[in-house]
Amino acid sequence: MAVASQEQTVVDSVGKQLYIGGEWRDGAGGATLEVEDPATGETLTEVADATPDDAVAALAAASETQGEWATHPPRERGEILRRAYELITARADDLALLMTLEMGKTLKESKAEITYASEFFRWFAEEAVRIEGRYAVAPNGAGRMLTMKQPVGPCLFITPWNFPMAMGTRKIGPAVAAGCTMVMKPAKQTPLSMLALAGILEEAGLPGGVLNVVTSSASGSVMGPLIEDPRARKLSFTGSTEVGRKLIEQSAAQVLRVSMELGGNAPFLIFDDADLDDAVEGALIAKMRNVGEACTAANRFHVAEPVAGEFASRLAERMGAMKLGRGTEEDVDVGPLIDEAQRETVTDLVEDARGKGAKVLVGAEPGDGRGYFYKPTVLGDVSPDARILREEVFGPVAPVTSFDSEDAAVAAANDTEYGLVAYVYTRDLKRALRVCEGLQTGMIGLNQGMVSNAAAPFGGVKHSGYGREGGSEGIEEYLETKYVAVNL
Ligand code: NAP
Repeated sequence: MAVASQEQTVVDSVGKQLYIGGEWRDGAGGATLEVEDPATGETLTEVADATPDDAVAALAAASETQGEWATHPPRERGEILRRAYELITARADDLALLMTLEMGKTLKESKAEITYASEFFRWFAEEAVRIEGRYAVAPNGAGRMLTMKQPVGPCLFITPWNFPMAMGTRKIGPAVAAGCTMVMKPAKQTPLSMLALAGILEEAGLPGGVLNVVTSSASGSVMGPLIEDPRARKLSFTGSTEVGRKLIEQSAAQVLRVSMELGGNAPFLIFDDADLDDAVEGALIAKMRNVGEACTAANRFHVAEPVAGEFASRLAERMGAMKLGRGTEEDVDVGPLIDEAQRETVTDLVEDARGKGAKVLVGAEPGDGRGYFYKPTVLGDVSPDARILREEVFGPVAPVTSFDSEDAAVAAANDTEYGLVAYVYTRDLKRALRVCEGLQTGMIGLNQGMVSNAAAPFGGVKHSGYGREGGSEGIEEYLETKYVAVNL
């Protein structure tokens, strides 16, 4: 295990056991799960590998704690989140290093994720005391109608590896604020950030049993029984559409409340009146944030014919100048992909596009070194039947195509089963609003390459899922409405 001492200290500081009912404990089977550094392929450490019995124990703890937690004063629930926000902020450098080690992105990007992740705790600390009902006179004047909001109950959370902390805080934050207990299962590649977060919440005063964390290499067999257990009342999943679909089916058994944050295939539209300098900067953020491994990553660039060539060559110049390397090194711009399977997916999609006539403007090959590097790539003249325009590439590849009218641009953008986010660059206000109304997505970046904000409702339509995380909408996912008909 050849990791430098600061890295070792950070890895050692995190609990490696399961966190159940406020106790840190080994899995019932005593098995462990290896965590790898994707920049070197070396093992960083091992964490407990939960069995289905461990997961059932976690749900039992969540269920036993639910009644008491639901009546915990909202101000105190908020203050726990606020303290956790402050602890995360104070330890941002160490948490960023931990994230870079297990996930691969650069330290700068990990720090940005830590800030983003902590913002959900700050936001929901404030929302905890704003859960309100209604009192109304019935239309016939005789009765009264009282509505109240109550916590949904024990929740099951499943998160992906690409944003190991933020995908957790945007579920944990509103659940804690609303008075729900939970079982969290992070991705097997990146369990350390979530275990560190559990330690921080414990230190911030979150009572045992409210948050339970199970790390596991066998997601299906560990989470399946919980999804079908009547004690669980909600499932919130972030991950691929393929797995999301299976979980929706499983959730039918107990008629669970379900939130699904699934895959994306974001179009990036540039009209001929756009500020091209801004569009290139926005494209770099929308494409290269998180090494392209983001559900919000621009997956395809549709550019007005007169400016398509210039945009593609300027983007290629900027992406070609980015330095690949281990994310812990100071001057590195792009880290490795998460694993070899992900690199193979990216390679296949690029080769398919090339086979159908796409021109390589830059990249289109693996990077050097032992890790799972792939060079930032721009493809021009991508044929409409190339798979890369339909499938989520999840890597640093920008396919560029052109359009000749506004209608054609919107039609191309909507020609996908996904509907998470789109990006639009234009200086014409009327066109901007027309296009925003026509796009079939849950979110739009208008003249900006990033939409994520804890104060805004994040989520998709079509096969990108349903439910919203963040904003005032975020806490509603964790609340039930109860109506009392009052006879005066
Ligand atoms: P994934 O394969 O769907 O895995 C996501 C999570 O689901 C992981 O924790 C995984 O565990 C778990 N899982 C897999 N199969 C399961 C099963 N049968 N039962 C229960 N849990 C199961 O997705 P990924 O490759 O990690 O993440 C990338 C995907 O997430 C992309 O499609 C991306 O667009 C999407 N995403 C969406 C959003 C959004 O907000 N819309 C945000 C980020 C990412 P293991 O780690 O053990 O496999």
